[in-house]
Amino acid sequence: MSNKRPFVNYDECMACGVCAQACPLDCISLIKNDIDAYKKNYPVLTSTQTCTGCGICARSCPIDAIQLKEVNKIETILS
Ligand code: SF4
Ligand code: SF4
Repeated sequence: MSNKRPFVNYDECMACGVCAQACPLDCISLIKNDIDAYKKNYPVLTSTQTCTGCGICARSCPIDAIQLKEVNKIETILS
């Protein structure tokens, strides 16, 4: 299992849902964002424990709005 996890760039994401459909482990859910004027359903990684970091979601995104990032680095940045 990779220690990388997908992170969505919500400034670019167009809420098409392709990434959620592509995940073989059903780790991504589409959740309505009420702050968005269009009230679209945006992808959120809801199963961080199940996610293997395979990168299929990132490769499926037609506009490269998902990046895989090492979790350890993220934790370091946030701490
Ligand atoms: S990295 Fe793989 S397992 Fe994790 S959300 Fe993306 S497709 Fe699913
Ligand atoms: S595939 Fe890309 S553009 Fe579509 S919902 Fe996922 S992150 Fe957003």
